[in-house]
Amino acid sequence: MDPEIPDLRRVRSRLRAWFVREQRDLPWRRARDPYAIWVSEVMLQQTRVSAVVPHYERFMARFPDVRALAAAHEDDVIASWAGLGYYARGRNLHRAAQSIVREHGGRLPATLDALRVLPGVGEYTARAVASIAFGEPLAVVDGNVERVLCRLHALRGDPRRGRTRRIVAEAATRMLDPRRPGDHNQALMELGATVCLPKSPACQRCPVAADCRARESGDPERFPEPRRRRAMEEQHWLALLAVRRGRIVLVRNSSDAELLAGHWGVPMARCARRAPRAADLRRAGRALAARTFRARATAPALLAPVRHSITHRRLVVHRLALDLDAPALPRSCRTIPRAAASGLAALYRKIVEAPPDAVQ
Ligand code: SF4
Repeated sequence: MDPEIPDLRRVRSRLRAWFVREQRDLPWRRARDPYAIWVSEVMLQQTRVSAVVPHYERFMARFPDVRALAAAHEDDVIASWAGLGYYARGRNLHRAAQSIVREHGGRLPATLDALRVLPGVGEYTARAVASIAFGEPLAVVDGNVERVLCRLHALRGDPRRGRTRRIVAEAATRMLDPRRPGDHNQALMELGATVCLPKSPACQRCPVAADCRARESGDPERFPEPRRRRAMEEQHWLALLAVRRGRIVLVRNSSDAELLAGHWGVPMARCARRAPRAADLRRAGRALAARTFRARATAPALLAPVRHSITHRRLVVHRLALDLDAPALPRSCRTIPRAAASGLAALYRKIVEAPPDAVQ
């Protein structure tokens, strides 16, 4: 039988009172602007709140409303997204803003179905925006909410799969406060983020402790089952740090590139083997330069490699520095001063800015 909370009304009201009293002062909570709520929800996917706050404030200052975002050039949007990672989110946000201006007169649609068809808006984001910005009675389940619900109901199993997932979704819907769905959803997320932590939950400060079966068991950390993490894969890459007339040469990645699709960055190629030899790197670097710049690169210098992790990949990037004296560059290239590297994606920034410490 699916679990029940005996006094739902008490749980809701304690949770709400706690949220009113204890919620963190976050910039997107100061306004009820649907656009601001949407931007914050997209930024918060797979990114910590503390990392999002400064980016969010800069982004909102640059694109204060949906029309400003829709009218911007994609390169400006992506530059403003720099540092947040998962750049497809920024590109989709931009495309969705254009669709909102074109098809909804510049106003964010208020229903789950209309939100769901916007580029990059999945079930979670649509529910969050619909409930928080428009008061739609829809439960939202993120990783924090999953943990709180699994503990309240003492559910083992993986809340992302099968029966446990279904039970968690149903428990979230039953527990939802239909009069204040936005505050209720945020309260549950906040509880998971600040009190019901994965390790050492602070049950003594928890507003719903009296109704929590995991706490009653004496070992709340046992719930839910820890997730099996995907193993990290080490990959070796080659990057060309090409300089022409004192400026760094960039290329735009194709939309199906293995790394950072659609970004401007230094040319890179995956190495065929782990721990490649210097001679192989130089040969591959010359071939990559010929393909990318249609110019010959002589005696490229091997710099100290940089390391960078992207989702499940741990990259070791072997950097080759070279001077390009080509009279012209292909149209697929552009150059920037070294100081402008701060506007590139974190991986490229690291490649350009890490000290050379040449090893060969
Ligand atoms: Fe989490 Fe403890 Fe609150 Fe239960 S009582 S929901 S385990 S913080």
